[in-house]
Amino acid sequence: VEREMIRSERLKVVAQMAAGFAHEVRNPLTTIRGFIQLAHQNNAPISREYYELVIGEIDRVNKIIKELLKTADPDPEVEEGKVDLHQVVRDVVTLQESQLRAHQVSWRVQLDDSDAFVWADKNKLKQVLVNLVQNSMEAMTDGGTMTITTLTAENGSVITIQDTGIGMDEKTIERLGTPFFTNKETGTGLGLTMSYRLIQEMNGSVDVDSAPGQGTTFTIYLPHYRETG
Ligand code: ADP
Ligand code: MG
Repeated sequence: VEREMIRSERLKVVAQMAAGFAHEVRNPLTTIRGFIQLAHQNNAPISREYYELVIGEIDRVNKIIKELLKTADPDPEVEEGKVDLHQVVRDVVTLQESQLRAHQVSWRVQLDDSDAFVWADKNKLKQVLVNLVQNSMEAMTDGGTMTITTLTAENGSVITIQDTGIGMDEKTIERLGTPFFTNKETGTGLGLTMSYRLIQEMNGSVDVDSAPGQGTTFTIYLPHYRETG
């Protein structure tokens, strides 16, 4: 019975993704078709302005497909093992520093004193944290502060990523992780879909605390690495 449940949940996700994908790709295709048809009817070469619009739409379709493929199969090689959480956090922050600066975002990293070895896939965990940091930055259009903390307890570690950005209302929070759900002009709405899935694969969990104008905190829990597995 449980397996059936999982199967039907999966089918629901696939159907949701297919519907979202169709919707996302249809708009640019309609635009492209319109411009090509117009150029043909006018029996004139496509103008520079239209050319750029068409290329932009094609790039958008490509981006959606690329993100979708990453979501469906982020990296076929699963390499779970002992991961130094603090090293991963430091790497991610280093990776994002120039972007944080460009967004006028200052950052604080507060790693607790104890060692934090979690059971995870290092690259996938990095991908998740990059997604969350990216979202934080994008939520702070007028700058702000991002704070990353870690806390290690008996069974696992907790990472929080907090921002002083626009925050989210209840309706938005409920829809987080739904494929293609985005409030951004150039968003794909796949970042959290993928992140939630990856954390689930690592037997962890994700929590959100947010309110409009109050900023957002994402909390990730990951189980400890254990010698005997
Ligand atoms: P995308 O970033 O492409 O929109 P995501 O799946 O990463 O897709 O995020 C989905 C939506 O969730 C965003 O468009 C935004 O509305 C909301 N969101 C996610 N993280 C935050 C955050 N830190 N602050 C405010 N809103 C957020
Ligand atoms: Mg995102």
